[in-house]
Amino acid sequence: MTITKENLQHIQLAEPLQHLSISELNELLEDYYSLKVKDVIEKYKLSISPSSLYNILPPHVTRFRCTYCGKQMLQKRKTKSSSPFAIDKAPVCPVCAYENSKRCKCSKCLEISRQLQIEEKRIKTQLINAVHSSPIPVEEFELTLTTKYYLAVLLRLGLSEDMSIIYPVHSYQQKLSPTPELNREVLIYLINERVITPDPSSEIQAFSKENFPRNFYIHQVHYQLNISPPDGNKSEMYKRLLYPEREIFLADIDWSYDMWIRVAKGEVLEFLDFQLKKLNFVLNSGDKTHKVIENLLESYSTGQICSLIYSAVNNASRRYQEGSIPKKRAANSVVTLMESYGGKDETQSWEVRSFSRNYNLTESSMSEVLFNSILRIGDLGFHIPPSRNL
Ligand SMILES: [Zn+2]
Ligand SMILES: [Zn+2]
Repeated sequence: MTITKENLQHIQLAEPLQHLSISELNELLEDYYSLKVKDVIEKYKLSISPSSLYNILPPHVTRFRCTYCGKQMLQKRKTKSSSPFAIDKAPVCPVCAYENSKRCKCSKCLEISRQLQIEEKRIKTQLINAVHSSPIPVEEFELTLTTKYYLAVLLRLGLSEDMSIIYPVHSYQQKLSPTPELNREVLIYLINERVITPDPSSEIQAFSKENFPRNFYIHQVHYQLNISPPDGNKSEMYKRLLYPEREIFLADIDWSYDMWIRVAKGEVLEFLDFQLKKLNFVLNSGDKTHKVIENLLESYSTGQICSLIYSAVNNASRRYQEGSIPKKRAANSVVTLMESYGGKDETQSWEVRSFSRNYNLTESSMSEVLFNSILRIGDLGFHIPPSRNL
């Protein structure tokens, strides 16, 4: 690491050191590590402040040459306070600042990585197009009731003004459905029916790295509608899909009843989750909670069950604060209390007052399309128990 006449040619010696001979320079380097900075400055008559001594030390001339300009690369000396195990400083090119390390941010490396990114994006876009640009469309007459309903729910929030694309679900202001589980259910149903497919104009990040670009994030891709109308008139078909005829749904009473239950159950779970979160209670709502709610919906409206939940949560919170139940069991005790209301006869269910829709839990598209457009019962969907007699 000593300085020689030969390698001195590669160094721009700092002005305060220019009066020193080569042997003095080498001695100064040794002194830097063994003497106090103040004494070094005095010994070599350097007109500098103590803090600048390190910065003007002649660097080590390495055997590496710069990849870009072929110049001999220089390496800063270790500081006198650095540990003997410290990693050596990376060699740097004195001309273009290329650094012999993966972290190099010199202009040439940045340009190369920019080019690589452009190329990678081009290849990925090509792959996305190859896989997703021309899916085989589903015929409109093949659509089931559930497909038509879920499509209306999605299109009303996500269809672009020119009806060319469905925006990513994560960007919607309004809720698709009451719960994240139902959101997934709606999207996966439509994807499995192949009526929506990822649009190639989606962000590359909307596709998963794993099995790229076949795997994608269902809330992040743009979708294209993959349905072909019988007469080729797409804009008329979009109208039919946005506002499907209600008669076809009403003709299937079981379908309407089942969907009412599904939406109501979602709204109850949403309210339950909202109330429990206020108290930091955690419920692992599984099959049992679902069954308890379904059972309650046979006699009670969503609004009434919300009122039962409100009392049950207050009750659990009081018992938790009194110390009679641990936090872990508090949430489960809410479900147990809800369960005890099930199976009561109709006369008793009249006595339970109904809550209005909670101000914080705005109505979802799923609920609006079902209760306002299809069943046309509006708020009754929330205030009467699900029924087959419409
Ligand atoms: Zn260079
Ligand atoms: Zn570089």
